[in-house]
Amino acid sequence: RRKKIVQECEKLMDRPEQIRNIAIAAHVDHGKTTLTDNLLAGAGMIGQESAGEQLAMDTEEDEQERGITIDAANVSMTHEYEEKNHLINLIDTPGHVDFGGDVTRAMRAVDGALVVVDAVEGAMPQTETVLRQALREGVKPALFINKVDRLISELQEGPEEMQQRLQKVIRDVNELIRGMTEEMDDIDDWTVSIQEGTVGMGSALYKWGISFPSMQRTGMDFGDIIDMERADKRQELHERTPLSDVVLDMVCEHFPNPIDAQPRRIPRVWRGDADSEVAEQMQLVDDDGEVVLMVTDIGVDPHAGEIAAGRVFSGTIEKGQELYVSGTAGRNRVQSVGIYMGGEREEVDRVPAGNIAAVTGLKDAIAGSTVSSIEMTPFESIEHISEPVITKSVEAKNMDDLPKLIETLRQVSKEDPTIRIEINEDTGEHLISGQGELHLEVITQRIERNQGIPVTTGEPIVVYREAPTQGTEQVEGISPNRHNRFYVSLEPLDQEIIDVLKKGEATMDMPELERREALQEAGMDKETSQNVEHVFGSNIFIDDTKGVQQLNETMELVLEGFEEALEDGPLAAEPVEGALLRLHDARLHEDAIHRGPAQVIPAVRDAVHRSLIHGEVRLLEPIQNVRIDVPNEHMGAASGEIQGRRGRVDDMYQEGDLMVVEGIAPVDEMIGFSSDIRSATEGRASWNTENAGFRVLADNLQPDIITEIRERKGMKTELPQSIDYF
Ligand code: GDP
Repeated sequence: RRKKIVQECEKLMDRPEQIRNIAIAAHVDHGKTTLTDNLLAGAGMIGQESAGEQLAMDTEEDEQERGITIDAANVSMTHEYEEKNHLINLIDTPGHVDFGGDVTRAMRAVDGALVVVDAVEGAMPQTETVLRQALREGVKPALFINKVDRLISELQEGPEEMQQRLQKVIRDVNELIRGMTEEMDDIDDWTVSIQEGTVGMGSALYKWGISFPSMQRTGMDFGDIIDMERADKRQELHERTPLSDVVLDMVCEHFPNPIDAQPRRIPRVWRGDADSEVAEQMQLVDDDGEVVLMVTDIGVDPHAGEIAAGRVFSGTIEKGQELYVSGTAGRNRVQSVGIYMGGEREEVDRVPAGNIAAVTGLKDAIAGSTVSSIEMTPFESIEHISEPVITKSVEAKNMDDLPKLIETLRQVSKEDPTIRIEINEDTGEHLISGQGELHLEVITQRIERNQGIPVTTGEPIVVYREAPTQGTEQVEGISPNRHNRFYVSLEPLDQEIIDVLKKGEATMDMPELERREALQEAGMDKETSQNVEHVFGSNIFIDDTKGVQQLNETMELVLEGFEEALEDGPLAAEPVEGALLRLHDARLHEDAIHRGPAQVIPAVRDAVHRSLIHGEVRLLEPIQNVRIDVPNEHMGAASGEIQGRRGRVDDMYQEGDLMVVEGIAPVDEMIGFSSDIRSATEGRASWNTENAGFRVLADNLQPDIITEIRERKGMKTELPQSIDYF
């Protein structure tokens, strides 16, 4: 049977009109996993009876235990619609914002996103986040309102009340879509509507669904559904209007196939030469063209090793091909290609354009790589909204495990580029940085459980930033031999420019003209934008010198000094952000021997650090938006938990039968929040956090925290004397 399905899929792979590449995205607990299992069961990929219990997508043990989906896994299924069989490739996206990077990557590989919203809770903060991620990638949305059974059986709502509630969900989602697509001129109206059939609703748990077209087909209307659900005739309801048919019909009807989608999506995600041959091949989904694969996920198979999964945008990928991997020098040889059936990988001979492929042998690929048969401009680097804000040390308990641990850490950072790893082979104490406490906890558990490496972990440590608060005059930096001098001034960058840099919208890799335009649009003056010599993190180095002898051949060392100075700021050796440094003039020794690395790098570092101190550099700390949903009687305790953490409560309001408390708090203070809020509210609160960038730490807290960090890093605890402004 399975073999037959695989054969059927292989046939469909060559008919792009009959392919849909989709993602299901939702706020945590709104029912994405249950729905996915239903679709798989409906398509005959797993047993009907086990849908909902099996949680086929949650492949990793820790995910099943926690009941949340973490890894973007891939599954494919077939579905008959209008007498034609369709191949539906579904990419799973994680529901927790701590794993935002995975969501964005999954979105890049698909053309349609089914947004699942809980009928009782309505649109939640992560509904907004996932919608934004989809729309930014040019992915078309449709809406499924889940848990409608609860409105009927639990809340005992009548038809009128229900209708109002469902309409509010649709209105809220449409308001989000409208706001996000307003300025996208390649997209027409992408709001969803019942009449058009882009809204479905039902119960993933009891496996029934309904949509405008399904009502017309089955002759069942909402009243019938309410009656049957009330009478507990769920089995019959499910048989007469099965959820999987309703949803998969909607997918086939309303989501674009690759041929319709790629011409619009390629310009959105790829910045190479639009007139080149490969651009045309990608837009046409040309299976005879050059091979172009965008890797969205790296997984590990105990037998086959690393598997790179991703969307084939053009060409046909086959065993034995030698393919370029973006960002690396050599080529990798394809060892096998496969597709995902249900959740399992099946080897096939070839995977043509328009499909999702699972490829082994691409040992240099990471999630986000472009893999191609010619050297080409890679896909836009995937925009990660959040930067790592928290770090934890990991050490192998047993020294013999050290090589295996290092290997595993490297693997982890390939699979999840939002994780940063610093490996210290000398001390054996490695650092993992990620999006939040839970993110790191999940990673370390995987190392222990899946790899069987017992580890000790340190306390979570918050990642700070250092940023200048005012501009400076020219400052001089002198080399140890006193023969080289650099004259540098500093300006704090505007937030708008910082955002552009953080999102990777102005990088040194892009054509100069494009970079200039992006910077000017964000408010940089024309001349400055023309003199950008280097970008590092969210800092910019401007070369305003004129005719300085030997500067050109020394520039590489100058930039090295610049990077070193910004990697470790003057306050506490934390990364600097938002500094524009301008080199006005330089004196260089005419003999190259006297202006080597040991002279130039410290001189530049000195100039940069001194200008940062003149610019009254301050420590910034990461902050999070916090939202807590609690019963009325625990509202005081919940807002107290935010306020007691140097936080601020911004809003409190009623939603359904619960109170919502919204506010912000520093990440540092949020460590341990989950157990504190549980005990403060007798476990009745549900909550979520979202990274909200960095903000300046209050002046009265600066000296203590700086000292603490310096101590931890083994630096001299007293600050340089020139830092006297706190
Ligand atoms: P995910 O986090 O979005 O993947 O959500 P899950 O699929 O894990 O569902 C979260 C919880 O909601 C589980 O306890 C499900 O059994 C329950 N659930 C999912 N769909 C429905 C539904 O349609 N009706 C009801 N009453 N519960 C549901």
